[in-house]
Amino acid sequence: MNNFEFTRPSSPQTAEDLRVEVRAFLSEALKDRTLAQQAQTWNGYDAAFSRSLGARGWLGMTWPKKYGGQERSALDRYVLIEELLAAGAPVSAHWFAERQTGPSILRFGTQEQREAFLPRIARGECYFCIGMSEPDSGSDLASVRTYAKRTDGGYVVNGTKLWTTNAHRSDYMCLYAKTDTKSEDRRGGASQFLVDMKTPGIKISPIPFLTGEHHFNEVAFVDVFLPDNALLGTEGQGWSQVTSELSFERSGPDRFLSSFAALIGMVQRAGPSPTPAQAAAIGRLVAHLAVLRQMSRSVAAMLEADLDPSLQAAMVKDLGAVLEQEIPDIARRVFPSRPGIGASDDLDATLAYLIQHAPSFSLRGGTREILRGIIARGAGLR
Ligand SMILES: Cc1cc2nc3c(=O)[nH]c(=O)nc-3n(C[C@H](O)[C@H](O)[C@H](O)COP(=O)(O)OP(=O)(O)OC[C@H]3O[C@@H](n4cnc5c(N)ncnc54)[C@H](O)[C@@H]3O)c2cc1C
Repeated sequence: MNNFEFTRPSSPQTAEDLRVEVRAFLSEALKDRTLAQQAQTWNGYDAAFSRSLGARGWLGMTWPKKYGGQERSALDRYVLIEELLAAGAPVSAHWFAERQTGPSILRFGTQEQREAFLPRIARGECYFCIGMSEPDSGSDLASVRTYAKRTDGGYVVNGTKLWTTNAHRSDYMCLYAKTDTKSEDRRGGASQFLVDMKTPGIKISPIPFLTGEHHFNEVAFVDVFLPDNALLGTEGQGWSQVTSELSFERSGPDRFLSSFAALIGMVQRAGPSPTPAQAAAIGRLVAHLAVLRQMSRSVAAMLEADLDPSLQAAMVKDLGAVLEQEIPDIARRVFPSRPGIGASDDLDATLAYLIQHAPSFSLRGGTREILRGIIARGAGLR
């Protein structure tokens, strides 16, 4: 296969039936949310909403039934995620567990771990945060210094994780740490662990956003004991496990729908008689959205076929961040607006929220430069 090939998966009837069902549920469940609340979507934390998705079989829906899943296709799940995000549903509580840690446990976990975690994640009752980044180790994940040292019956962990979204309200962390500091391969000697956040020695400190919201944290580990059964997968194989997880992280509709509420606001504000500049701006943004959606659906089909879509996922994430960042800018250019947090005008409040979050869109999940480096390598340019 050509490195840059994007297939055009057709939508199975099951997915379109599900779309109708999800829309009906969301139009009732979210009927009072303003546009500015919709803009929060995967920063919106609502455990009761997550449990209501779990009760409908809409979390972990691709997983085997014996682990609480529904054995549905990746394209079915794709439709669910796109409807949730387009409607601005508050999905943050279950997000990391369902999107990436659950699939990693299914792939690399022991039977005991699958049985212990997956049904609870699928019910919307067990939340994970992701402990990869550290002070001085973000893009260069191979340079992490958090060290899980072997001891009797397990490991003792020391180190600090940074930018850990939802650490303060998660049950577990999927921790990435070195287990062999002498490995000659700088990507070697690392492992993943499923860490109970109540374990003694873990200290969580908030890092407020520009908006004042608390999502981020610094998480310090001081002599934290992890039992042997906290190891996820094979000791020393953490790098390949983590990089396979990143395809789940980089390719979904969450990578181009972050500013969708502003696009809806633009369409509403333009009404039936947009100016030529407004019509051109909206038309261009919708065209970009449609292309990204096809690319992203193609990645979902590759995941379903057990192919490695890491290159395609990097392209979706990079192009998606460009779109997400330009929507609020373009909206301000073609519609008179006075963005302000808590503004009485819904589009103004939405734009204020997105303008303050937009810089993060090209950082989280891999920065623009890192993704372009991956793409350049795929194109044989480096
Ligand atoms: C909203 C948000 C949520 C996040 N949530 C989590 C989370 O839950 N868990 C977690 O582990 N992490 C999380 N992160 C951290 C995120 O993964 C890192 O911020 C990201 O990987 C960049 O790392 P850094 O911040 O250390 O920046 P650096 O790696 O220091 O990068 C700084 C700048 O240098 C550039 N740069 C770095 N290396 C190169 C290179 N080789 N070539 C060219 N340019 C380069 C980068 O592109 C960037 O512009 C989150 C970040 C954000 C913004």
